[in-house]
Amino acid sequence: MSSNSSVSFNAKRLEGKVALITGGASGIGECTAKLFVQHGAKVVIADIQDDLGTSICEQLGGHETISYVHCDVTIDSDVRDAVDLAVSKYGKLDIMFNNAGVGRLETSILESSNENFKRVMDINVYGGFLGAKHAARVMIPAKKGCILFTASTMSVMGGFADHSYVASKHAVVGLAKNLCVEMGRYGIRVNCVSPNAVATPMLIKETGLGKEALESMLSEAGNLEGEVLEAEDVAAAALYLASDESKYVTGVNLMVDGGFSITNPSLL
Ligand code: NAD
Repeated sequence: MSSNSSVSFNAKRLEGKVALITGGASGIGECTAKLFVQHGAKVVIADIQDDLGTSICEQLGGHETISYVHCDVTIDSDVRDAVDLAVSKYGKLDIMFNNAGVGRLETSILESSNENFKRVMDINVYGGFLGAKHAARVMIPAKKGCILFTASTMSVMGGFADHSYVASKHAVVGLAKNLCVEMGRYGIRVNCVSPNAVATPMLIKETGLGKEALESMLSEAGNLEGEVLEAEDVAAAALYLASDESKYVTGVNLMVDGGFSITNPSLL
């Protein structure tokens, strides 16, 4: 490292930063919100599960540090208001984590409903587009920022999920790549984090399995003997991409999958 490097390795890796996390009331988003607060960030959780979101904020010390806002990511004015709340409450927005998402496991095109396809694209892709757009509105004048998306292993391969989900996650990565090109000139980094299957409420609901049974099944999913992917592992990757430690990293799709996408390039 050069002696004048501006990278510093602090115990609190997000000290002084303000983050907005969509889908922050559950699973990966909730875990990331907790980790970001632990690392000194002020956090706004934006979700549609109001009771869960409010209770997480109460557990983590209330409005000084973390706030909840009802925000359906498919509604432009909700996303606009969530971004504006972060700025009015905490003074700025450094990190926009477009994490809210839904997914289905069914794979047959003939059984896929048109409504489901549109809904998944709406939440996973359009929701991320709105998040990026409103974040850019405040980050461009500030000439800095970090826009992050939760994609999936399904962003680089097929199989294991419904057509809408796989299409939506490929689209999220395409959106992030194109944004990275435009945003670079403003000092804004754009990246994706791509987990393989994690036993969050989304997957528990879709598989109909309990957390333990699901984790036991997932222990076979990676390429790392004896390891099971947990929401904390995804949050840790998001923390790196959100912190200044990754200040020269933009346009990447960081796989957090134990090598799964390499060993199974396409099982569709
Ligand atoms: P989760 O269900 O625990 O959390 C998703 C959150 O998104 C929920 O709190 C939900 O209320 C919120 N949400 C859904 N629709 C919304 C909307 N319209 N507006 C605002 N919020 C909305 O699931 P998770 O596993 O933590 O999923 C988080 C992200 O991780 C998603 O983008 C998902 O596709 C991705 N992902 C999950 C897995 C997995 O196996 N769990 C794997 C790869 C990627």
